[in-house]
Amino acid sequence: WSNTETPVDALDELSKTSYPLCMRTLHEALKSNYHLKNSGRVQYGLFLKGIGVKMDEALQMWRTEFTKKIDADKFDKEYAYTIKFIYGKVGSQKNYTPMGCSKIISNIAGTGEYHGCPYRLMDSGTLKKKLTSYGLLATDVSEIVSLAEEHHYQLACAKCFEVTHKIPPEHPVMHPNAYYSDSRSIIDK
Ligand code: SF4
Repeated sequence: WSNTETPVDALDELSKTSYPLCMRTLHEALKSNYHLKNSGRVQYGLFLKGIGVKMDEALQMWRTEFTKKIDADKFDKEYAYTIKFIYGKVGSQKNYTPMGCSKIISNIAGTGEYHGCPYRLMDSGTLKKKLTSYGLLATDVSEIVSLAEEHHYQLACAKCFEVTHKIPPEHPVMHPNAYYSDSRSIIDK
């Protein structure tokens, strides 16, 4: 995982430049709904830990968003635990690692949930609209949507990396945190 510390105030920008679609979707949902259900908190929280967000900063970010809708007291009682758990500070105190693509792809999100892999879970029209709104060219969008329709979710994700970075990822897409590191190593060059 990343050895570099990532400040939470960089996440809005990083979500646009270096997140794979699964994490960008969770980041956007958190920022617009001021909430993520448990599976989304775990998927995104572990990813953030992996990219070098420290626990206190992560807690501060989740608290800032959640308390736009609920009391700080309720956040501390009901939601802070998951974040501390992810960092191994409470509960079984294990060193939980960020989820890889196969696990994320196998997780199905229900109504009002945003975890899982969007290349599997979004219908073609929604995926097309989403990628177009991110500024991708129509030909690239079509290619990515076709790969997703053929159930080649990780190839669709790699194609998205390629068209947004003008170079394919260094590794086949197997893990969102590796996608992120490949992106940073190109952008930080
Ligand atoms: Fe995330 Fe992997 Fe799906 Fe890409 S292929 S969106 S990294 S789960």
